[in-house]
Amino acid sequence: MSDAITGRRRVPSPENDPNLTYAPGTPARAELKTRLASMASETVDIPIVIGGKEIRTGATEPSVMPHKHGHVLGHFHKATADHVRQAVDAALVARKEWSSWSFEDRAAVFLRAAELLTTTWRSTIVAATMLGQSKTAYQAEIDAASELVDFWRFNVAFAQDLLSEQPSSTHAIWNQMEYRPLEGFVYAISPFNFTAIGGNLAGAPALMGNTVVWKPAGTAMLSNYYVMKLLEAAGLPPGVINFVPGNAVEISNVLLDHPDLAGIHFTGSTAVFNSMWQRVGQNLGKYRGYPRLVGETGGKDFIVVHASADPQEVAVAAVRGAFEFQGQKCSAASRMYVPKSRWNDIRDRMVAMMKDIKMGDVRDFRNFMGAVIDKKAFDKIGGYIDDAKKNAKVIQGGGYKGDEGYFIEPTLVEASDPAYRLMCEEIFGPVLSVYVYDDAKWAETLEIVDRTSPYALTGAVFARDRAAVREASSALKNAAGNFYINDKPTGAVVGQQPFGGARASGTNDKAGSKTNLVRWVSMRTIKENFAPPTDYKYPFMAEE
Ligand code: NAD
Repeated sequence: MSDAITGRRRVPSPENDPNLTYAPGTPARAELKTRLASMASETVDIPIVIGGKEIRTGATEPSVMPHKHGHVLGHFHKATADHVRQAVDAALVARKEWSSWSFEDRAAVFLRAAELLTTTWRSTIVAATMLGQSKTAYQAEIDAASELVDFWRFNVAFAQDLLSEQPSSTHAIWNQMEYRPLEGFVYAISPFNFTAIGGNLAGAPALMGNTVVWKPAGTAMLSNYYVMKLLEAAGLPPGVINFVPGNAVEISNVLLDHPDLAGIHFTGSTAVFNSMWQRVGQNLGKYRGYPRLVGETGGKDFIVVHASADPQEVAVAAVRGAFEFQGQKCSAASRMYVPKSRWNDIRDRMVAMMKDIKMGDVRDFRNFMGAVIDKKAFDKIGGYIDDAKKNAKVIQGGGYKGDEGYFIEPTLVEASDPAYRLMCEEIFGPVLSVYVYDDAKWAETLEIVDRTSPYALTGAVFARDRAAVREASSALKNAAGNFYINDKPTGAVVGQQPFGGARASGTNDKAGSKTNLVRWVSMRTIKENFAPPTDYKYPFMAEE
């Protein structure tokens, strides 16, 4: 029916990209190791890309390996305010052509990019993510390969669904909905922690016909640059996405003050998103329209354990959920609530696993953890650990060493006060704080979980007792945008668990969903009358 209305051709049905295991003996492992070695032996010169042209300013910053920070992987050229203005001009010029392309033509670019990423580009993007962001092979695989492939493929199918939503019509009146790209350019600002997020923040608005100025994070430059190159290789026309590395504040000042700013697609910390929102508010009189503000921000993600939970399941979920990728996932478990009757058992199981965890250079595949992203993060997390040493009990870990790489041990802290700052604030590192509650205080504990932090991104309940699951799900309805039952709060899969949180965690537009794509179009309703009236009078006005 919808096809008949829109005349659209069906896009391929998306399926989640299967993760490669990189187990010993697999060809993928051999290829990845070769790519890691070759990439580690070169220094990439990363330009600004505006209107398809590479620009080198000479003012550069190095991209290093967080696990071996003396090793420079590349240098990226930083944009000046002039370059940022040029990027907007290039986006606005490209918009004329790109927005007139059929949806199918735009979709084909992203489907081809996804195909390249699953095949010939896979080892490059995965290796760049491992080296530049210190992810293990598996963590890089589920992010930079599978999740990005999924974003691009699923968004195409979601977009098709959206475009085929049409109003009803009659024989004389034909109503149509046109999904126009926004008037102006979209500003995409991506975080360091997921390569896939950069590809999606820039890609989703572009798929809907917009053109984009993309500011990648300085600490994810290598992988993000390769994503840009991959999109070009897939046929993305010049100027549709402009790659603009540089000083975040300087770039933002130009873009947020620009009259053609049509939208912001942001993922990162709450404070930065708040500052951008405020600037947009101050600038409202300057813009052509109301910019769309989409931001996925911080979290203080919880695991709440009921006395009926299985202790081994809890311990595994906590260790994986809190320490994979060094706890630098927005969804990482960072506070946990355990009943007194279960604590010793769960603690001992966790401590045994934590003692077993290997941490080091991600090129050594035996490591479960790499380094945290940079010195700033290292110092901040170290500060929290020092605080815990004074004001709480460090059960396991607590060591950190930054001379060669920014390594922080997986750390388990027990807090006697549920309002202790490590239970409330986003740390963004491998630190899990636990509050042990009295078994009789399950309902009160749920209230504490709900009230403790301003965020509401992810959370998990572990219980065998269904009544406890129901109670937690209801009491914590607004405490998480992604809620897990007997599973760790990380690892959302595109198309399966649309991702995003509310409260201080963002606008909850669910990355990789139709809801997100709606934000990048401005609808025009068209009514066509096949039999316009020819008399201004209505029938009731006639003489009896
Ligand atoms: P960040 O806020 O420091 O940086 C994000 C981006 O904003 C980067 O590109 C950065 O250069 C830029 N930026 C920094 N200061 C800016 C400013 N004043 N004006 C404009 N742009 C500025 O975040 P990060 O350290 O890269 O990422 C970690 C944060 O991201 C955590 O808070 C995490 O919870 C959040 N995150 C959230 C999600 C989600 O889906 N909710 C996903 C991933 C990361």
